[in-house]
Amino acid sequence: MQDPLVPPPPRWHFGRMSDVAAKTMKVLLPLPLAGPLDYAAPETGDAVPGAVVRVPLGGREITGIVWGDGDAGMPQGKIKPIASVLPVRPFPEGLRRFIDWVAAYTLNPPGRVLRMAMTAPDAFAPPRERIAYILEKRSHGPHMGGASPPSATTPRNGEATLPRLTPARQKVLALMEGHPPMTASEIAAEAGCGEAVVKGLAAAGMLTTVPLSAEAGFPAPDLALPGLALSPAQAEAAETLRAVVEGKGFEPVLLEGVTGSGKTEVYLEAVAAALVQGEKAQVLVLVPEIALTRQWLDRFARRFGTMPAEWHSGLTGAERRRVWRGVSEGRARVVVGARSALFLPFADLKLIVVDEEHDASFKQEDGVIYQARDMAVVRAKIEGIAVVMVSATPSLETLANAADGRYRHVTLTDRHGGAALPDISLIDMRFHPPERGHWLSPPLVEALARNLDNGEQALLFLNRRGYAPLTLCRHCGHRFQCPNCTAWMVDHRQDGTLQCHHCGLRVTRPKECPACGKEDALVACGPGVERLAEEVAERFPEARQAILSSDMAGGPHALADLIARIGRHEIDIVIGTQIVAKGHHFPMLTLVGVVDADLGLLGGDLRAGEKSFQLLSQVAGRAGREERPGRVLLQTFMPEHPVMAALAAYDREAFLAAQMEERREAGWPPFGRLAALIVSSPHAGAAMKTAERLARTAPAIRGLHVLGPAPAPLALLRGRHRMRLLVRAEKGLSLQAILRQWLAKAGGEKGVAVTVDIDPQSFM
Ligand code: ADP
Ligand code: ZN
Repeated sequence: MQDPLVPPPPRWHFGRMSDVAAKTMKVLLPLPLAGPLDYAAPETGDAVPGAVVRVPLGGREITGIVWGDGDAGMPQGKIKPIASVLPVRPFPEGLRRFIDWVAAYTLNPPGRVLRMAMTAPDAFAPPRERIAYILEKRSHGPHMGGASPPSATTPRNGEATLPRLTPARQKVLALMEGHPPMTASEIAAEAGCGEAVVKGLAAAGMLTTVPLSAEAGFPAPDLALPGLALSPAQAEAAETLRAVVEGKGFEPVLLEGVTGSGKTEVYLEAVAAALVQGEKAQVLVLVPEIALTRQWLDRFARRFGTMPAEWHSGLTGAERRRVWRGVSEGRARVVVGARSALFLPFADLKLIVVDEEHDASFKQEDGVIYQARDMAVVRAKIEGIAVVMVSATPSLETLANAADGRYRHVTLTDRHGGAALPDISLIDMRFHPPERGHWLSPPLVEALARNLDNGEQALLFLNRRGYAPLTLCRHCGHRFQCPNCTAWMVDHRQDGTLQCHHCGLRVTRPKECPACGKEDALVACGPGVERLAEEVAERFPEARQAILSSDMAGGPHALADLIARIGRHEIDIVIGTQIVAKGHHFPMLTLVGVVDADLGLLGGDLRAGEKSFQLLSQVAGRAGREERPGRVLLQTFMPEHPVMAALAAYDREAFLAAQMEERREAGWPPFGRLAALIVSSPHAGAAMKTAERLARTAPAIRGLHVLGPAPAPLALLRGRHRMRLLVRAEKGLSLQAILRQWLAKAGGEKGVAVTVDIDPQSFM
């Protein structure tokens, strides 16, 4: 312990190249280097493993993490010193081991993975005090009693006059009544005024400033609040989860139950059981679309009397800092977040929940490619805690793990409150074709009309954003394709553009065909949600309709707003993309029409059937969640397809069994291991050359099969030509070790990137 009266050594003290043997430490930098670098440790001894430090690198200084002891034999004097240790808690050991594990598994340099854990650079700076405002008690309102008005408004003659109260000022004062301190920007946002109004009120003495620690604000969850009275089935499931959480040790559980069976209430009991384990006990809940979790947050708040911390890409730097530090210090007890929340520095993590575990968005597809659901299990194993995966339609991988007994399997078979599962029927489009230029078949139109008459709500599901997926010239047949991607340009009428949904390219929809110059010859082919909305407006002009899609104008707020309006039945017909499938509970929604049930089955990827089944079940699950029974109509051209047949007959077991059998026979996951190698380059020839060399140099190992190279389904993406190899390995083989050796031997080529995707989900 340093004598507090002696001033601390200046920072450059660390920098002195001492000739006494200084200790060296390994420091991992958030860069794609092969591993950590050695630096001389400061004599203060605070560069402990996990410490966040500044180190010199090639003439600049960057932030890194002490990863462990350095090599003993490093020649002193040659090695650069750690410049400073930042005032933040060290990265916990569990997080460091997790980063190393993910790096090894995904074949990424550890520094690239570390970068995902360092997305809150502000967190490493000392706390910054912010200024907040509260109501100045003496000045408030007309009922000031005997209190003297603030001096700023007291004229010389001593006559008290109140400052002028504009509507904006009145609004702010009303808002602040009984409100805890808020910053000027928070007040401005809530009151819908400018920050100048707040500052003006402060200058007038009607608001008072108070310092607000940046660390403030993680009210502890109230564990004394009772949960909902659980049904016997729920109670039993909750009891099992509680036992697992209390079991102290790693244990994965699959909580499976039909949509609306009350899984959320059940796992909130597991959350409660984890939180009571310690003052700083923490829980992480991973959810697919964080923008859509409003309803979930409200339920959480009802159960625990407070909001959890949120973690996702939409946070500001200051919010990141607050959550990161709160998590690292054990003050943020529950975090609900997107997959990146797995890389937070939890002080005392007790439980991870992966809600909608089958959801494709848990797979990160660029940068470090990883499956967050699987990595959640890894993190739980490293921390020695429970992990609960929740789904109505679990992935085949998870089901296989449950069947093998590696995961405990807890099921809820009935909908909560006895709500019946919706009745699902197929509309064979070969026999019930829609009218020309329309997309709704007569039976679906009739069902919609009846539904409207009953004063109930309907959802039309079409997983296609925009107006039309393809535009062509009637005159010359020219089709609008993205110049950077193997994709059609999608017509978006709302803003008059043609857009590529892969690279984001937008162009104004031209008047004449760029190929033949003919005017007004462009026609839209096929429907998107905007076009479907046109048909709905034409057929049901009196119905209140809204499009719910991820690219909605107004962003996440507008989206949350619309979802709330749908919940209140202010919309009669919702037209939605896959975003509507996720977790929403709309009490009056009784009819779901799937406009093109076959859409997800095109493209022929390994998981097309499984994914289609999950998505359509999820969509169907929106219908009839309360007293009124639900009905689902699927428009399909292939009613005999196993996915359609299984949905209509509620025969999930048979469908899954057939899928499992197919995969078992072919050795596909979960019965074998799979990796994709994507070779990409701006030059088609270079990509091809490297891909072919990789295929030629593939190791000849029994049980290893290399397929390809073949052009990837998206053969051109963002201007890069892409070739794909698929590597299938029997379970016993060490796929990573094989790939590492093989790729190292094959070597690189200028301008050609080889991306490794372990356990690929999408085959684009
Ligand atoms: P799931 O997550 O399985 O789809 P939810 O947890 O969303 O199901 O539950 C469906 C609906 O039933 C929700 O509105 C929820 O609030 C309600 N619910 C679930 N369990 C209970 C309970 N024990 N008491 C009262 N309402 C419940
Ligand atoms: Zn594109």
